[in-house]
Amino acid sequence: MKKLAAGNWKMNGTRAALAEAQALTAAHPAPACEMLLCPPATLVAALAAQAKGTALMTGGQDCHPKASGAHTGDISAPMLKDAGATHVILGHSERRADHGETDALVKSKAEAALAAGLIAIVCLGETEAQRDAGTTLQVIGTQLDGSIPAGATAANLVIAYEPVWAIGTGRTPTLAEIAEVHAFLRARLQGLIGAEAAGTRLLYGGSVKPSNAAEIFAVPHVDGALVGGASLKAADFGTIVAALSA
Ligand code: PEP
Repeated sequence: MKKLAAGNWKMNGTRAALAEAQALTAAHPAPACEMLLCPPATLVAALAAQAKGTALMTGGQDCHPKASGAHTGDISAPMLKDAGATHVILGHSERRADHGETDALVKSKAEAALAAGLIAIVCLGETEAQRDAGTTLQVIGTQLDGSIPAGATAANLVIAYEPVWAIGTGRTPTLAEIAEVHAFLRARLQGLIGAEAAGTRLLYGGSVKPSNAAEIFAVPHVDGALVGGASLKAADFGTIVAALSA
């Protein structure tokens, strides 16, 4: 399995930010891992065009469950695919919190992504209160069961474990805590998609930085990272790509 370094630019970046992607591909023309940036929707087509012929792939940050229709402001999976995207992030905790996305909605979006030929990156994670209450595995298990699209395989599904309290905070779980969740996810996924689970990428996300990437990537069942803040600068994301390629 090739590992995956995925960057989530969130609501950051205008066309000027494409220079960072240019610098990234120039510095890492042939990384041993897969390299993906998910810019705001306004930049998907431009980034995909700029990155053509390089190792960098482009993804969206969300899609609608329907392929088209009267849904003002939304973007469909076929539209992302048409713009040059290969992946789409779904069920990020910011969307679950800010837009009330449920597991069922995330599942329907993921099914739309698969139908359009996109790889779905489905995000899961517990809040701080849930971790403190000792319900992390229960919460994540429920999210996984409810969010996984029908027809998921190792080739079209990526899971990102992102503790909500670690996103953008500079705080991370211990390596043992990451190991526990990732081993749990692998086993639970096997119950859902059978043998495909072994080859499905399980990403860790939440305050991954150049300084902690290597130790996190050494944890069993961590097959890459979903990176927010540190994906905005080519030098930082490039260091993470290099750590994953080592
Ligand atoms: C994210 O939002 O997916 C994320 C992991 O953010 P950060 O790396 O900034 O914590």
